[in-house]
Amino acid sequence: MIRPILVVGNPVLRGKARRVSQVDRSIQKLIDDMIETMKQAPGVGLAAPQVGVPLRLAVLDVDDQITVIVNPEIIKKIGEVELDEGCLSVPGFWGRLNRAERVSVKAQDRNGKDFRIRDAEGLFAQALQHEIDHLDGHLYIDRMETLDKLQRSEPVRKREADAAAARRAAGETVDEEEEAEEPA
Ligand SMILES: [Zn+2]
Repeated sequence: MIRPILVVGNPVLRGKARRVSQVDRSIQKLIDDMIETMKQAPGVGLAAPQVGVPLRLAVLDVDDQITVIVNPEIIKKIGEVELDEGCLSVPGFWGRLNRAERVSVKAQDRNGKDFRIRDAEGLFAQALQHEIDHLDGHLYIDRMETLDKLQRSEPVRKREADAAAARRAAGETVDEEEEAEEPA
């Protein structure tokens, strides 16, 4: 079942989510709904507070791999990188911010079993940090130096489309898939 995604301004997005005490059937149903909602959006990640459930649980879809993290904790951070980021709960915008380059996370899976993600990097590392932030009521816009740097997505998409059209007119082949990154 696809669930509605809350947008910035809703207080559930700003609260500290509670630990999941037991991964039972109702939690597994919530996980399935969140995966379906994330894919439909589409996004690279979705945290339970984004669908109005204040529990420490998130799903990720990076490189066609679904990851479920229940009660996740970042146990190691390495390095720092500047990244562009968006969020399904802040529709129509993206911004540039700093995040750790690599992270290790401990969590439980969809069966309640403990597991670790060691030295995640790239988009996976970014999405893990983004989703775990959601569980503490933080949005990526809180991590930006200034909201003056917040950009609207549509004009960027239009600029890219215009640039692609210009290249096509010039006889170059254009990869239709080179679109803006999916938000989380
Ligand atoms: Zn988000």
